[in-house]
Amino acid sequence: KPIIIIVVGMAGSGKTTFLHRLVCHTMASNLRGYVLNLDPAVLTLPFGANIDIRDTVRYKEVMKQYNLGPNGGILTSLNLFATKFDEVISVIEKRADQLDYVLVDTPGQIEIFTWSASGAIITEAFASTFPTVVTYVVDTPRSESPATFMSNMLYACSILYKTRLPLVLAFNKTDVANHEFALEWMKDFEVFHAALDADNTYTSTLTRSLSLALEEFYKNLRSVGVSAVSGAGMDAFFKAIEASAEEYMETYKADLDKRW
Ligand code: GDP
Ligand code: MG
Repeated sequence: KPIIIIVVGMAGSGKTTFLHRLVCHTMASNLRGYVLNLDPAVLTLPFGANIDIRDTVRYKEVMKQYNLGPNGGILTSLNLFATKFDEVISVIEKRADQLDYVLVDTPGQIEIFTWSASGAIITEAFASTFPTVVTYVVDTPRSESPATFMSNMLYACSILYKTRLPLVLAFNKTDVANHEFALEWMKDFEVFHAALDADNTYTSTLTRSLSLALEEFYKNLRSVGVSAVSGAGMDAFFKAIEASAEEYMETYKADLDKRW
């Protein structure tokens, strides 16, 4: 059975570029990948998608037809697509023994996928059929600001507890900024507090206490530094994915079997 990798992250964090890198890496390593694009609004994709939401729903038409703005158009397109998602699952099931990975790109704006009913439906459809791992892409250079770092961690945390799926943090753009500082901040909250003191744009007791609350969360995930542009960190990333898929088998799958 293939491992499903759902790529989420804030707009501009590099999801689509990262997915392209994953496609290149799997091809070069003789791994069999299947690519799914769930962003109805993307103009051009750097990779060829096996299944593309744009082939089924035209989001500009949806905007006109339902009199919606861009975000509403994207969300409604995703809703329309989600109603047919069982077909996507059965297409992948038919190819299951010929695939190692299914790579899933999601809409630019994170909340459209992670805080919508259709995002939940799609995620659960995958997770009830295949080992599924969520990859949260972080814009590392932007996260050098403690406040942005904290927003990302809170977002990732809410996704982890909502989906209950294994989560890999991919600190992207390490060609621009090394991600060591982030690993330090997760390992030792005192180092993070020191960075907060130095950041006079945003210093609040809330961020401080949140960092303490997140300690437990940090223990529940894997972090790797990657660069979608240079290709750095791919081996570490796929190791984290393999370990996460095992975790899926031990926790999520066991849970699911119990429920049924
Ligand atoms: P998405 O909205 O999350 O899908 O982000 P995109 O993949 O469209 O990337 C947003 C911007 O970040 C683009 O200008 C990319 O070229 C750039 N980008 C993505 N990954 C990297 C990376 O690893 N390094 C650098 N330097 N830029 C990147
Ligand atoms: Mg994108």
